[in-house]
Amino acid sequence: MEKDSATLRSQPRDALFKRLAAFSLLMAGAALVVVSVGARGSTRSVGALWNAAGVAVAQSYEPHTGQPAVVKQIANDLYFFYDYDGSNSVFLVTDAGVLVIDTREHPRAAQDLLARIRKVTDKPIKWVINSHFHGDHTYGNAIFQAAGATFVAQQETARLMKLVQPKEMARRQDYFKEHNYDPDEVKLILADVTFSDQMSVYLGGREVRLMYFGPGQQPGDTFVLFPHDRALFTPGAFTKHSMPNMAFTTSVDNWVKLLDKVAARNDYDVILPAHGDVAHREDIKELQSMLAEEYATVKDAVAKGMTLPQAQQTLTFLQYKDWRNYTRLKSEIKNLYELIQTGKRSYFE
Ligand SMILES: [Zn+2]
Repeated sequence: MEKDSATLRSQPRDALFKRLAAFSLLMAGAALVVVSVGARGSTRSVGALWNAAGVAVAQSYEPHTGQPAVVKQIANDLYFFYDYDGSNSVFLVTDAGVLVIDTREHPRAAQDLLARIRKVTDKPIKWVINSHFHGDHTYGNAIFQAAGATFVAQQETARLMKLVQPKEMARRQDYFKEHNYDPDEVKLILADVTFSDQMSVYLGGREVRLMYFGPGQQPGDTFVLFPHDRALFTPGAFTKHSMPNMAFTTSVDNWVKLLDKVAARNDYDVILPAHGDVAHREDIKELQSMLAEEYATVKDAVAKGMTLPQAQQTLTFLQYKDWRNYTRLKSEIKNLYELIQTGKRSYFE
């Protein structure tokens, strides 16, 4: 465990950041692409953000379905905040205080999460773990910082949060607009403590084990085990019935292999994913086969010389039409084309 509170805690809302945020707002309006998809009986608009070179910089935002967020009690001391339309959180309640995993996508959403925690306990908020760098898991950090939390993240997560902050802000503007949230309220709050492979936090007599198995959906993906409850929180690398954003993975093969390791562990019975509902071991296989199929199909299209627009037209993966984020399929095909054709992840450049 490595302490870098002095260097890492920062709030770089500098001029460049503000300019980029303003630019992205402009571009989001200019490049809104509307498609109709008959999923769950509704028509959806899907926005896509493009940078100056016309390259897609992010996935489109899937507007909310109106399913209300709920808190599910998983064990005596463990709670799962489940928001189908947004991102999930987990909180552990002990006599010594509270540990929270992920803080939602905006300080207002974090306020709601904190209010829900306060319905369960008035104990102090001691720790926050950010499971990966995405803003939908970190942009509520400021509320928990004000509540006194110490922030922990894998070192790649801490690095990437800083590196891609303007791009993260850019791709979340549709969410902010839809919820009427002010983007200027978002503050980048980085880790106080980072780790490389594994670390344990002890709170109220419980061990909370943070584990990094290498890049899955992205570098930094942190799994969190609550051994006493036999519960495992999973980051972007495993979500239930949710098609992952493919812009960040450096190897789909490694991602699928990493999930084999997770599925083979015998120290948990229940999975609390970063997106989607409570899951179990067998759900991992389901995501693995989706990933393997999506990757093989797109690789085959590239090998056959299919252009990106042709692939986007032809490859429909209709068997996943009921999964969360199916409407982002065209940008995921684009993201896979980039990985397969160039080996690059332009999001990190
Ligand atoms: Zn997310």
